[in-house]
Amino acid sequence: MEIDEIDWPELPISCPHCGNHGQAGGEWEENGWTPFRLIEEVVQSWQFTPVERGDGLSLIADAAAGTDPLTNLQIECGQCFELFSLPEKTKVQFE
Ligand SMILES: [Zn+2]
Repeated sequence: MEIDEIDWPELPISCPHCGNHGQAGGEWEENGWTPFRLIEEVVQSWQFTPVERGDGLSLIADAAAGTDPLTNLQIECGQCFELFSLPEKTKVQFE
């Protein structure tokens, strides 16, 4: 399906901040090609060894001793750019 064939108002996605429902002629059309975008924030941590060098400090991060990244997927409103949660029972598939 092409993105311009999507009937956005039929979907259970609407912005709780401004009420954007992806309706035709909405303010989101001035900001981009789609009323909503997926946003992923990734948090990852590593152990590190501090090494003093001259008057500074180097942190040597151990790439093998990192944690699995914690990710947080949300939807960004194309009208007010606030973030909100995906609807319940929504699966995200990257292709
Ligand atoms: Zn909004």
